[in-house]
Amino acid sequence: MFEKVLIANRGEIAVRVARACRELGIRSVAVYSAVDRDSAVVRLADEAVCIGPADSRHSYLNAAAIIEAARQTGAQAVHPGYGFLSEDPDFAEICADNGLVFIGPRPEVMLALGDKSRAKALMAEAGLPLSPGSLATVATAAQARTVADETGYPVIIKGAAGGGGRGMTVVWSAEEFIPAYERTRIAAQAAFGDDRVYVERYLTQARHVEVQVLCDGYGNGVHLGTRDCSVQRRHQKLIEEGPAPALSAATLDALAATALRGALRVGFTGAGTFEFLVDETERFHFIEINCRIQVEHPVTEMITGVDLVHEQLRIAGGMPLRLRQEDVRSSGVAIECRVNVEDPERAFVPTPGRLTRFVPPAGPFTRVDTHGYPGYLVGPHYDSLLAKVVVWAPDRDLALSRMERALHEFEVSGPGVHTTIPFARRVLEDPGFRKGRYTTNLVDRLLGVPG
Ligand code: ADP
Repeated sequence: MFEKVLIANRGEIAVRVARACRELGIRSVAVYSAVDRDSAVVRLADEAVCIGPADSRHSYLNAAAIIEAARQTGAQAVHPGYGFLSEDPDFAEICADNGLVFIGPRPEVMLALGDKSRAKALMAEAGLPLSPGSLATVATAAQARTVADETGYPVIIKGAAGGGGRGMTVVWSAEEFIPAYERTRIAAQAAFGDDRVYVERYLTQARHVEVQVLCDGYGNGVHLGTRDCSVQRRHQKLIEEGPAPALSAATLDALAATALRGALRVGFTGAGTFEFLVDETERFHFIEINCRIQVEHPVTEMITGVDLVHEQLRIAGGMPLRLRQEDVRSSGVAIECRVNVEDPERAFVPTPGRLTRFVPPAGPFTRVDTHGYPGYLVGPHYDSLLAKVVVWAPDRDLALSRMERALHEFEVSGPGVHTTIPFARRVLEDPGFRKGRYTTNLVDRLLGVPG
């Protein structure tokens, strides 16, 4: 096992990884930008190195500075968290060239799966069901329009290199298609430096259901069940739960088995997530693979008792998977609410500021992953996720009331600071959500957005 691991991230996930390292007797190195000097991970890690200014291009995305920090401190491996460099195959390669273990899949696997249209083609070969539409990227507007017309409207145009819910356009009719196609390409080029796009049928009554997998470097893999992440605003997740509710056991089993088959087929290693859309008839369609730890991983940890970050570290350290499929048992229900520093009353605009009060919830079966503390200055530079409140209960009704109780306890305030807690509470009260019968439309419906 590693003696020292560098954490190439910030915020709550950096804290999460530092905790895992300490629990496994691994020394941890935090890296931070100049504005993150007072961040929680700097205190929790064994060592900390400043890697640059606030602008993440010169700090958290600065591969050279991160490699240099690893060299200086003698770290053997790099945990990339999520976001930033976590899905960058070039960074994984640079790590390897510098004798560092990148904690994630092999660079060539990341390269293939990070291209969403290539991932779809690979998964189609492995027999995974896809939503109707083009497999490959479409080169011309006319070609794309033909695909869209054949697929039938509405369609969604997505950037092959896209991620984080950005760079996607829903098109409702043939007349709108060409301008939407051009807009999406320009946006994809600006956001991801890659203007290749592909087209899919847009499913209007879909649930986002994903499967957690863990695979080692010896061809062994397990799945750890499903999470429903349909509570999304602008394709960004707000609330997640596991197992996915209101689906038959047969569908849940088929989803999990399908994902694992896809993972083993492409030689995936580490912790990964296979994302699907499930329609009204419980037919499911593969959409993408995430080659990293996900924000919502605690949901799975709470229902399975498996520490996914520990497992990532072990697998990257060359150990064979300790779990066989029959060892993975899921019990009860877990729900996670993301607490973002944003004002839900003003179109979820970020509201950075100093936290004069910060009292996270506690109590039975309640977990809070956060980097916040009283006096912490939430800056404007990075994403607005401040905390994740996760609860577990033997059944969904109790999990819902436990989450309501936890959110009721959570006190976060400061001059100008707002959070998404009031909005999460509205979702929890929604009758459709309470029944477990909701789709990716839920948030737009609550916000009165026409769709
Ligand atoms: P990203 O990589 O940016 O997260 P995804 O392909 O995972 O993009 O899609 C994000 C979300 O967008 C999904 O969870 C879903 O809500 C919506 N979405 C994506 N593809 C479709 C589709 N074909 N039909 C309906 N909704 C979709």
